[in-house]
Amino acid sequence: MTEIPHVVILGGGFGGLSSANELRNSLNSSQLKITIIDKKDWFMVGFAKLWIITGTRSFENSIGSLNNLSKKEINFIKEEIFSIDLQNKNIKTSSQTISYDYLIISMGTVLAPEKIPGLQENGFNLYDHKQLSKIHEKLMAIKSGKIAISIMGMPYKCPPAPFEASLLIDSMLRKRGVRDSIQIHLYSPAPITLPAAGPEVSKKIFELVDSEKIFFHNSSKIKSVEHNKLIFEDSESNFDLLLAIPPHIAPKVIYDSGLAKEPGFILIDRDCKTEFENVFAIGDVTSLIVTESIAVPKAGIFAEGEGIVVAKNIISKILSKHEAILFDGKGGCFLESGRDTASEIEVDMYSNTKPTTNLTESTAENLSKKLKFEKDRLSKWL
Ligand SMILES: Cc1cc2nc3c(=O)[nH]c(=O)nc-3n(C[C@H](O)[C@H](O)[C@H](O)COP(=O)(O)OP(=O)(O)OC[C@H]3O[C@@H](n4cnc5c(N)ncnc54)[C@H](O)[C@@H]3O)c2cc1C
Repeated sequence: MTEIPHVVILGGGFGGLSSANELRNSLNSSQLKITIIDKKDWFMVGFAKLWIITGTRSFENSIGSLNNLSKKEINFIKEEIFSIDLQNKNIKTSSQTISYDYLIISMGTVLAPEKIPGLQENGFNLYDHKQLSKIHEKLMAIKSGKIAISIMGMPYKCPPAPFEASLLIDSMLRKRGVRDSIQIHLYSPAPITLPAAGPEVSKKIFELVDSEKIFFHNSSKIKSVEHNKLIFEDSESNFDLLLAIPPHIAPKVIYDSGLAKEPGFILIDRDCKTEFENVFAIGDVTSLIVTESIAVPKAGIFAEGEGIVVAKNIISKILSKHEAILFDGKGGCFLESGRDTASEIEVDMYSNTKPTTNLTESTAENLSKKLKFEKDRLSKWL
């Protein structure tokens, strides 16, 4: 090990930023060197994307700069990660090789629209930041017809987000005075709205969208997309505007390094360890199985929690304390109703060894809490 241990963090998203900050808040730069590598130099809280499509936010007002990390003596390298050499303990980027003593992999997911024939030619990717302004323009221009929001693979990031998108679009179209002549349809391969949240919360989410005349179609497994037409395994459906949540996979370097098999994610337990010593994986790039049918959902709040656990365990090891903690699986996700209120889905993945969830009342106060959630992270991390 080098004199000052070096923690290299792959990915400056939710997990990477939470672990870097936790590390730096406990150990100064003479005790620990921290490097974050990311191909982009900004961070955005995922739900701001929905505000950009409805026009209440701009991209520029929703991001924080990773270049601010240097103020905390956290090195930031804006480069593409090309390889992870777990034997020789180094990372290759476009222009350099970086050695590590500890590695935290927090590289998120890759959106893979190319896996669905015809999708890229005929639909928009609701989760792609580069397509948000175009989607906004389309939503401002549509006067009549049918909007389809289609979940095209499981698991995907932030399970409630497509439902929230439908409610926010409903509200936007009502304000535009065109809602009565536009249908909104939501398609999912799952049998209920939010399988990870269980049948009771799923029923409430169904009732919420149903009350706004948003039609939910369960068990709709997509095969391909044609011009203005979704082709499912056992049915077809027309649309005028398609907003898709494409299949999610792990970044190529994860498969190349043997950490996971395509199209899966890195399997971890609650200690977020990989099979390699001092190599940890957190957040969306992982799969943390809780029960036979339920895994920890892909959400920022869980990536953040796992990042803190890994950071605390690394600190403990460096300080020779040898106290290890486990990820507690607790978190919450806000669901906006589109009527200037939000509810919160409270999740406890390990309560009495089985996951429990609860959907709170939809209130204006929860919407303020959601705004504060974003502001807090941008200000404390960057
Ligand atoms: C519309 C929407 C709404 C959402 N709402 C919520 C919400 O309300 N609550 C919530 O908790 N979560 C929400 N999420 C989910 C949340 O954004 C993700 O779960 C979270 O970002 C995962 O964190 P992460 O650190 O695992 O990955 P990410 O935050 O995705 O970070 C991964 C980073 O790795 C970088 N990277 C990947 N590959 C490479 C490479 N080869 N080279 C260099 N850099 C690379 C990426 O550029 C990225 O910055 C939402 C997501 C969306 C899309």
